[in-house]
Amino acid sequence: MNRIAVVGTGYVGLVSGSCLSDFGLNVICVDKDEEKIKGLKCGVIPIFEPGLQPIVERNVYYKRLEFTTDLRQAVESCDVIFIAVGTPPADDGSADLTYVEQVARDIARYMNGYTVIVNKSTVPIGTGKKVKEWINEEMAKRGASFEFDVVSNPEFLREGSAVHDFTHPDRVVIGTDSKRALEVMKQVYRVLYLNETPFVETNIETAEMIKYASNAFLAMKVTFINEVANLCEHVGANVQDVARAMGMDGRIGPKFLHPGPGYGGSCFPKDTRAFAEMARKFGVSLSLVEQTVEANERQKLLAAQKIERVLGDLSGKQLAVLGLAFKPNTDDMREAPSITILNELAQKGVTFKVYDPAAHREAKWRLKNIEDRIIYCQNEYETMEGSDALVIITEWNQFRSLDLNRVKELLRQPYFFDLRNIYKKKDMESRGFKYFGMGQ
Ligand code: NAD
Repeated sequence: MNRIAVVGTGYVGLVSGSCLSDFGLNVICVDKDEEKIKGLKCGVIPIFEPGLQPIVERNVYYKRLEFTTDLRQAVESCDVIFIAVGTPPADDGSADLTYVEQVARDIARYMNGYTVIVNKSTVPIGTGKKVKEWINEEMAKRGASFEFDVVSNPEFLREGSAVHDFTHPDRVVIGTDSKRALEVMKQVYRVLYLNETPFVETNIETAEMIKYASNAFLAMKVTFINEVANLCEHVGANVQDVARAMGMDGRIGPKFLHPGPGYGGSCFPKDTRAFAEMARKFGVSLSLVEQTVEANERQKLLAAQKIERVLGDLSGKQLAVLGLAFKPNTDDMREAPSITILNELAQKGVTFKVYDPAAHREAKWRLKNIEDRIIYCQNEYETMEGSDALVIITEWNQFRSLDLNRVKELLRQPYFFDLRNIYKKKDMESRGFKYFGMGQ
């Protein structure tokens, strides 16, 4: 193996490329976004991802990691090419494969010998086959016939802990029909093989399916506990104890049982919709997934409704909002619950003082439609000055140990909406707060 190209330097591509170079491999990361590549060449990391900066710096220093916008040069000098471009939702909910197709065709234009094309983007089942067709078509146009194999290697990293997840995965899934490509992939992931990471070797379609089935299952689990939490509020049960006890059952497990204002992010919302849409095309019903999608939309609205139910007429009210990113340790706000909640409340006449440790830049364009209602603050406490209530939307660690005396002094009224259950109702009430968690 000579060198690896990773096309797309977003959350997945940049982390994968950097970590592979940290495994000692020579990697070139390609993106069509010139600004991004210009920044990366000067050491500017375009995303907030803990631990990524030193890995990039180290591997650039040792000349194992390079950045370019020149896909041709990358394809000509590499024999393994990862596709890690976005697969955003199309209008009907299905995954838009425009970028994947573009890259596949470009690879075929410049390939000059046996190449393994590894699809890391989350793509509908059957895309691996399409990639083969696109490459064959494009090679035929130039009268070339180089050998190549397509591999599906879905990525399971989570934003916010992406570096750890990439280097310590629960499993690596490799889908291919080619022994030759499988051997190449084993070399690529040699470090993980040596660390005894479990590998699942299967065909392309199964690998593609594993990614969607995993994400849909996790989204369903979150949604399940959200609905249980909603019921808890009506019957006097405490969802935290319920979730803890459920999680102690080895068949259930404790993860993804934390209620909140609905899941967001770049994966669960779009992947559940695409999965359901894909099944519909085959006349198969994924009714649980369909219900999950709907219930999650309701959950985001419920959070806004709860605030209105408690505070009454919202016109002219000011809210202190902590956390805008779809989860802590990221600046990503794609489909974040904060967007729905703030928009809903803005319609009722609310203004906001907000603080997120990483997401202000992204929030400024994603919430542009209500920008006249938002003041971006420098820290947690600034948001509370003169506000009628506090709302924690994202559970950044630094919000877990607020100076509660100061919070109470700064708020006009001690209303505390904790949409992530990071405080305890009893403690908060004994401190004089009117506290509203999830399912407590
Ligand atoms: P992203 O939007 O952060 O990055 C995609 C990058 O691809 C962008 O920088 C874009 O400029 C680049 N790009 C698009 N077309 C290109 C082209 N023709 N040539 C070169 N570069 C091009 O996306 P992401 O979050 O990294 O996700 C990538 C894929 O991985 C998606 O399919 C996603 O579903 C999947 N995935 C994402 C995560 C996650 O946590 N973000 C986790 C697992 C899987």
